[in-house]
Amino acid sequence: GEPLLSVQDLKVEFSTSAGVVRALDGVSFDVGSGETVAVLGESGSGKSVTAQAIMALLPQPAGSIVGGRILYGGRDLAAEPVSKVRELCATEIAMIFQDPLSSLNPVYRVGWQIAELFRRRRGTPKQEAWAKSLALLKRVGIPDAETRIRDYPHQFSGGQRQRIMIAMAIALEPKLLIGDEPTTALDVTVQQQVMNLLADLQAESGMGMILISHDLGVVAEVADRAAIMYAGRIIETGGIRQVYDHPAHPYTRGLLDSIPSNTSLGERLTPVVGSPPNLLALPSGCSFHPRCPFATELCRTTSPVLRQPEGWSAGHLAACHRTEEVLTHD
Ligand code: SF4
Ligand code: MG
Repeated sequence: GEPLLSVQDLKVEFSTSAGVVRALDGVSFDVGSGETVAVLGESGSGKSVTAQAIMALLPQPAGSIVGGRILYGGRDLAAEPVSKVRELCATEIAMIFQDPLSSLNPVYRVGWQIAELFRRRRGTPKQEAWAKSLALLKRVGIPDAETRIRDYPHQFSGGQRQRIMIAMAIALEPKLLIGDEPTTALDVTVQQQVMNLLADLQAESGMGMILISHDLGVVAEVADRAAIMYAGRIIETGGIRQVYDHPAHPYTRGLLDSIPSNTSLGERLTPVVGSPPNLLALPSGCSFHPRCPFATELCRTTSPVLRQPEGWSAGHLAACHRTEEVLTHD
Protein backbone atom coordinates (compact mmCIF):
# COMPACT_ATOMS: atom_id res chain seq x y z
CA GLY A 1 0.00 0.00 0.00
CA GLU A 2 0.82 3.67 0.23
CA PRO A 3 3.71 4.56 2.52
CA LEU A 4 2.83 6.68 5.52
CA LEU A 5 5.46 9.22 4.51
CA SER A 6 7.21 9.56 1.18
CA VAL A 7 10.11 11.98 0.91
CA GLN A 8 10.92 12.52 -2.75
CA ASP A 9 13.98 14.28 -4.17
CA LEU A 10 14.03 16.73 -1.26
CA LYS A 11 16.36 19.71 -1.59
CA VAL A 12 17.03 22.19 1.23
CA GLU A 13 19.24 25.27 1.17
CA PHE A 14 20.56 27.56 3.89
CA SER A 15 21.72 31.10 3.28
CA THR A 16 24.77 31.86 5.35
CA SER A 17 27.06 34.87 5.48
CA ALA A 18 29.56 32.82 3.46
CA GLY A 19 27.06 31.84 0.76
CA VAL A 20 24.24 29.43 -0.01
CA VAL A 21 24.63 25.91 1.31
CA ARG A 22 22.81 22.94 -0.21
CA ALA A 23 22.12 21.00 2.98
CA LEU A 24 19.93 18.35 1.33
CA ASP A 25 20.50 17.43 -2.29
CA GLY A 26 17.85 15.06 -3.58
CA VAL A 27 16.92 12.95 -0.56
CA SER A 28 14.27 10.25 -1.13
CA PHE A 29 12.91 7.60 1.24
CA ASP A 30 9.61 6.10 2.38
CA VAL A 31 8.38 5.16 5.85
CA GLY A 32 5.49 2.72 6.22
CA SER A 33 3.15 2.30 9.18
CA GLY A 34 4.78 0.05 11.74
CA GLU A 35 8.13 0.47 10.05
CA THR A 36 11.35 1.96 11.46
CA VAL A 37 13.83 3.69 9.18
CA ALA A 38 17.22 4.56 10.65
CA VAL A 39 18.85 7.66 9.15
CA LEU A 40 22.56 7.46 9.83
CA GLY A 41 25.63 9.56 9.22
CA GLU A 42 28.18 11.91 10.69
CA SER A 43 27.33 15.30 12.10
CA GLY A 44 26.49 17.72 9.27
CA SER A 45 25.40 14.99 6.84
CA GLY A 46 21.82 16.28 6.72
CA LYS A 47 20.08 13.90 9.14
CA SER A 48 18.61 16.55 11.40
CA VAL A 49 17.84 18.86 8.48
CA THR A 50 15.73 16.07 6.99
CA ALA A 51 13.67 15.88 10.19
CA GLN A 52 13.42 19.66 10.41
CA ALA A 53 12.18 19.85 6.82
CA ILE A 54 9.48 17.22 7.43
CA MET A 55 8.26 19.03 10.57
CA ALA A 56 8.54 22.59 9.20
CA LEU A 57 11.21 23.33 11.80
CA LEU A 58 13.94 24.60 9.46
CA PRO A 59 15.61 27.66 10.99
CA GLN A 60 13.87 30.75 9.59
CA PRO A 61 14.56 32.66 7.47
CA ALA A 62 17.89 30.96 6.63
CA GLY A 63 16.59 27.51 5.72
CA SER A 64 14.18 26.68 2.93
CA ILE A 65 12.94 23.75 0.88
CA VAL A 66 13.94 24.47 -2.72
CA GLY A 67 12.79 21.25 -4.36
CA GLY A 68 11.10 17.90 -3.93
CA ARG A 69 8.05 16.65 -2.10
CA ILE A 70 7.12 15.42 1.38
CA LEU A 71 3.99 13.36 0.83
CA TYR A 72 1.90 12.56 3.90
CA GLY A 73 -1.79 11.65 4.02
CA GLY A 74 -2.44 12.85 0.48
CA ARG A 75 -0.73 16.20 1.13
CA ASP A 76 2.61 17.61 0.06
CA LEU A 77 4.00 19.13 3.25
CA ALA A 78 6.84 20.75 1.30
CA ALA A 79 4.29 22.92 -0.50
CA GLU A 80 2.19 23.89 2.51
CA PRO A 81 2.58 26.90 4.78
CA VAL A 82 4.64 26.34 7.92
CA SER A 83 1.60 26.99 10.14
CA LYS A 84 -0.41 24.19 8.48
CA VAL A 85 2.42 21.68 8.83
CA ARG A 86 3.00 22.61 12.48
CA GLU A 87 -0.71 22.11 13.17
CA LEU A 88 -0.52 18.62 11.62
CA CYS A 89 2.66 17.81 13.54
CA ALA A 90 1.07 18.82 16.84
CA THR A 91 -1.09 15.71 16.67
CA GLU A 92 0.07 13.30 13.95
CA ILE A 93 3.86 13.62 13.65
CA ALA A 94 5.79 13.77 16.91
CA MET A 95 9.46 14.32 17.56
CA ILE A 96 11.84 13.53 20.36
CA PHE A 97 15.24 15.15 20.73
CA GLN A 98 18.59 14.33 22.26
CA ASP A 99 18.06 16.73 25.15
CA PRO A 100 14.67 16.35 26.87
CA LEU A 101 15.36 19.40 29.04
CA SER A 102 15.10 21.58 25.94
CA SER A 103 11.53 20.36 25.44
CA LEU A 104 10.29 20.01 29.00
CA ASN A 105 9.29 23.13 30.88
CA PRO A 106 11.39 23.32 34.07
CA VAL A 107 8.78 25.18 36.11
CA TYR A 108 5.86 22.77 35.65
CA ARG A 109 5.34 19.32 37.15
CA VAL A 110 5.79 16.61 34.50
CA GLY A 111 2.31 15.20 35.12
CA TRP A 112 0.79 18.60 34.44
CA GLN A 113 2.79 19.02 31.21
CA ILE A 114 1.46 15.74 29.84
CA ALA A 115 -2.09 16.37 31.07
CA GLU A 116 -2.01 19.78 29.43
CA LEU A 117 -1.54 18.14 26.01
CA PHE A 118 -4.87 16.35 26.40
CA ARG A 119 -6.59 19.46 27.72
CA ARG A 120 -5.27 21.77 25.03
CA ARG A 121 -5.52 19.45 22.00
CA ARG A 122 -8.48 17.27 22.93
CA GLY A 123 -10.42 19.35 25.46
CA THR A 124 -10.11 16.48 27.94
CA PRO A 125 -11.50 17.38 31.42
CA LYS A 126 -8.85 18.00 34.07
CA GLN A 127 -9.21 14.82 36.12
CA GLU A 128 -9.37 12.57 33.09
CA ALA A 129 -6.30 14.30 31.61
CA TRP A 130 -4.43 13.71 34.88
CA ALA A 131 -5.41 10.01 34.81
CA LYS A 132 -4.18 9.72 31.21
CA SER A 133 -0.95 11.42 32.21
CA LEU A 134 -0.44 8.90 35.02
CA ALA A 135 -1.17 5.96 32.73
CA LEU A 136 1.42 7.24 30.24
CA LEU A 137 4.10 7.69 32.89
CA LYS A 138 3.49 4.11 33.98
CA ARG A 139 3.52 2.89 30.38
CA VAL A 140 6.94 4.43 29.69
CA GLY A 141 8.33 2.84 32.83
CA ILE A 142 8.59 5.64 35.39
CA PRO A 143 8.76 3.81 38.74
CA ASP A 144 6.44 4.99 41.49
CA ALA A 145 4.53 7.06 38.95
CA GLU A 146 1.69 7.97 41.35
CA THR A 147 4.18 10.00 43.39
CA ARG A 148 6.57 11.09 40.67
CA ILE A 149 3.80 12.59 38.56
CA ARG A 150 4.09 15.67 40.83
CA ASP A 151 7.85 16.05 40.38
CA TYR A 152 9.63 18.61 38.21
CA PRO A 153 11.85 17.67 35.23
CA HIS A 154 15.13 18.29 37.09
CA GLN A 155 14.14 15.69 39.70
CA PHE A 156 14.43 12.86 37.16
CA SER A 157 17.48 11.08 35.75
CA GLY A 158 18.46 11.60 32.10
CA GLY A 159 16.95 8.25 31.09
CA GLN A 160 13.71 8.99 32.96
CA ARG A 161 13.46 12.44 31.36
CA GLN A 162 13.79 10.82 27.94
CA ARG A 163 10.99 8.42 28.92
CA ILE A 164 8.86 11.42 29.93
CA MET A 165 9.61 13.03 26.54
CA ILE A 166 8.49 9.83 24.87
CA ALA A 167 5.31 9.86 26.95
CA MET A 168 4.58 13.39 25.72
CA ALA A 169 5.42 12.44 22.14
CA ILE A 170 3.04 9.46 22.06
CA ALA A 171 0.29 11.06 24.17
CA LEU A 172 -1.86 12.03 21.19
CA GLU A 173 -1.13 8.75 19.37
CA PRO A 174 0.94 10.10 16.47
CA LYS A 175 1.12 8.14 13.23
CA LEU A 176 4.80 8.97 12.82
CA LEU A 177 7.47 9.44 15.48
CA ILE A 178 10.81 11.02 14.62
CA GLY A 179 13.69 10.63 17.07
CA ASP A 180 16.73 12.87 16.51
CA GLU A 181 19.56 11.17 18.42
CA PRO A 182 17.02 10.27 21.12
CA THR A 183 19.45 8.23 23.21
CA THR A 184 22.81 9.85 22.42
CA ALA A 185 23.09 11.62 25.78
CA LEU A 186 22.42 8.42 27.74
CA ASP A 187 24.76 5.66 28.85
CA VAL A 188 24.83 2.47 26.81
CA THR A 189 22.56 0.34 29.01
CA VAL A 190 19.93 3.07 29.27
CA GLN A 191 20.18 3.69 25.49
CA GLN A 192 19.16 0.11 24.81
CA GLN A 193 16.31 0.27 27.32
CA VAL A 194 14.91 3.41 25.71
CA MET A 195 15.25 1.85 22.23
CA ASN A 196 13.40 -1.24 23.47
CA LEU A 197 10.66 0.98 24.87
CA LEU A 198 10.29 2.69 21.49
CA ALA A 199 10.12 -0.68 19.75
CA ASP A 200 7.43 -1.90 22.18
CA LEU A 201 5.36 1.25 21.79
CA GLN A 202 5.60 0.93 18.03
CA ALA A 203 4.47 -2.70 18.14
CA GLU A 204 1.41 -1.63 20.14
CA SER A 205 0.48 1.40 18.08
CA GLY A 206 1.67 0.61 14.55
CA MET A 207 3.21 4.06 14.20
CA GLY A 208 6.02 4.61 11.71
CA MET A 209 9.39 5.71 13.12
CA ILE A 210 12.39 7.58 11.81
CA LEU A 211 15.41 7.19 14.08
CA ILE A 212 18.24 9.60 13.39
CA SER A 213 21.61 8.55 14.77
CA HIS A 214 25.34 8.65 14.23
CA ASP A 215 25.47 5.24 15.86
CA LEU A 216 24.30 2.22 13.85
CA GLY A 217 24.83 -0.09 16.81
CA VAL A 218 22.15 1.65 18.87
CA VAL A 219 19.41 1.59 16.23
CA ALA A 220 20.25 -1.69 14.48
CA GLU A 221 18.11 -3.85 16.74
CA VAL A 222 14.95 -1.82 16.22
CA ALA A 223 15.33 -0.55 12.64
CA ASP A 224 13.86 -2.30 9.60
CA ARG A 225 15.73 -0.24 7.03
CA ALA A 226 18.67 2.15 7.03
CA ALA A 227 19.56 5.21 4.99
CA ILE A 228 23.19 6.34 5.24
CA MET A 229 23.71 10.05 4.58
CA TYR A 230 26.80 11.91 3.45
CA ALA A 231 27.04 15.58 2.52
CA GLY A 232 23.30 16.03 2.13
CA ARG A 233 22.62 12.87 0.15
CA ILE A 234 21.62 9.30 0.87
CA ILE A 235 24.61 7.30 -0.29
CA GLU A 236 23.34 3.87 0.69
CA THR A 237 19.96 2.46 1.64
CA GLY A 238 18.52 -0.99 2.22
CA GLY A 239 17.23 -3.44 4.78
CA ILE A 240 19.14 -3.10 8.05
CA ARG A 241 20.77 -6.53 7.60
CA GLN A 242 21.61 -5.84 3.94
CA VAL A 243 23.40 -2.64 4.88
CA TYR A 244 25.00 -4.06 7.99
CA ASP A 245 26.17 -7.40 6.59
CA HIS A 246 26.90 -6.28 3.01
CA PRO A 247 27.80 -2.59 3.03
CA ALA A 248 27.88 -1.50 -0.61
CA HIS A 249 29.39 1.98 -0.26
CA PRO A 250 32.99 2.62 0.88
CA TYR A 251 31.74 5.12 3.46
CA THR A 252 29.35 2.62 5.04
CA ARG A 253 32.04 -0.02 4.81
CA GLY A 254 34.47 2.29 6.58
CA LEU A 255 31.95 2.94 9.32
CA LEU A 256 31.46 -0.78 9.83
CA ASP A 257 35.07 -1.94 9.41
CA SER A 258 35.96 -0.36 12.71
CA ILE A 259 33.55 -2.71 14.46
CA PRO A 260 35.41 -5.81 15.70
CA SER A 261 32.75 -8.29 14.66
CA ASN A 262 30.28 -7.58 11.88
CA THR A 263 27.88 -10.09 13.33
CA SER A 264 27.36 -8.29 16.63
CA LEU A 265 24.92 -5.43 16.38
CA GLY A 266 25.84 -3.95 19.73
CA GLU A 267 29.08 -2.20 18.86
CA ARG A 268 29.61 1.48 18.37
CA LEU A 269 30.70 3.09 15.09
CA THR A 270 33.93 5.04 14.97
CA PRO A 271 34.42 7.80 12.42
CA VAL A 272 35.94 7.17 9.02
CA VAL A 273 39.41 8.69 8.50
CA GLY A 274 39.26 12.34 7.42
CA SER A 275 36.71 15.06 8.04
CA PRO A 276 33.18 15.55 6.74
CA PRO A 277 33.25 17.93 3.77
CA ASN A 278 32.56 21.64 3.94
CA LEU A 279 29.13 22.06 2.33
CA LEU A 280 30.22 25.48 1.03
CA ALA A 281 33.03 23.90 -0.96
CA LEU A 282 31.97 20.35 -1.77
CA PRO A 283 34.55 18.19 -3.53
CA SER A 284 33.88 17.66 -7.25
CA GLY A 285 32.32 14.43 -8.50
CA CYS A 286 31.68 12.03 -5.62
CA SER A 287 31.86 14.26 -2.53
CA PHE A 288 33.39 11.35 -0.58
CA HIS A 289 36.36 11.00 -2.95
CA PRO A 290 39.00 12.80 -0.81
CA ARG A 291 38.40 10.22 1.95
CA CYS A 292 37.80 7.18 -0.24
CA PRO A 293 40.44 4.43 -0.60
CA PHE A 294 38.77 3.33 -3.86
CA ALA A 295 38.66 6.73 -5.61
CA THR A 296 39.58 6.94 -9.31
CA GLU A 297 39.62 9.76 -11.84
CA LEU A 298 35.94 9.10 -12.64
CA CYS A 299 35.12 9.69 -8.97
CA ARG A 300 36.79 13.10 -9.05
CA THR A 301 34.75 14.27 -12.05
CA THR A 302 31.37 12.53 -11.95
CA SER A 303 28.84 12.32 -9.15
CA PRO A 304 27.51 8.75 -8.77
CA VAL A 305 23.75 8.13 -8.70
CA LEU A 306 21.98 5.88 -6.20
CA ARG A 307 21.54 2.50 -7.93
CA GLN A 308 21.11 -1.16 -7.12
CA PRO A 309 24.42 -3.05 -7.28
CA GLU A 310 24.52 -5.88 -9.79
CA GLY A 311 23.09 -9.10 -8.41
CA TRP A 312 22.12 -7.73 -5.03
CA SER A 313 18.77 -8.08 -3.34
CA ALA A 314 15.92 -5.71 -4.08
CA GLY A 315 15.88 -2.40 -2.25
CA HIS A 316 19.61 -2.29 -1.54
CA LEU A 317 21.00 0.78 -3.30
CA ALA A 318 24.32 2.61 -3.22
CA ALA A 319 25.71 5.74 -4.85
CA CYS A 320 29.20 4.65 -5.87
CA HIS A 321 30.89 4.07 -9.22
CA ARG A 322 32.79 1.09 -7.85
CA THR A 323 30.14 -0.58 -5.70
CA GLU A 324 30.64 -4.02 -7.25
CA GLU A 325 34.35 -3.95 -6.37
CA VAL A 326 33.74 -2.59 -2.89
CA LEU A 327 31.27 -5.37 -2.15
CA THR A 328 33.72 -8.11 -3.04
CA HIS A 329 36.76 -6.41 -1.49
CA ASP A 330 37.99 -8.09 1.66
FE1 SF4 B 1 34.74 6.10 -3.53
FE2 SF4 B 1 34.45 6.62 -6.11
FE3 SF4 B 1 32.64 5.19 -4.85
FE4 SF4 B 1 32.86 7.79 -4.35
S1 SF4 B 1 32.24 6.85 -6.28
S2 SF4 B 1 32.61 6.20 -2.86
S3 SF4 B 1 35.08 8.06 -4.49
S4 SF4 B 1 34.78 4.61 -5.21
MG1 MG C 1 22.00 16.46 14.24
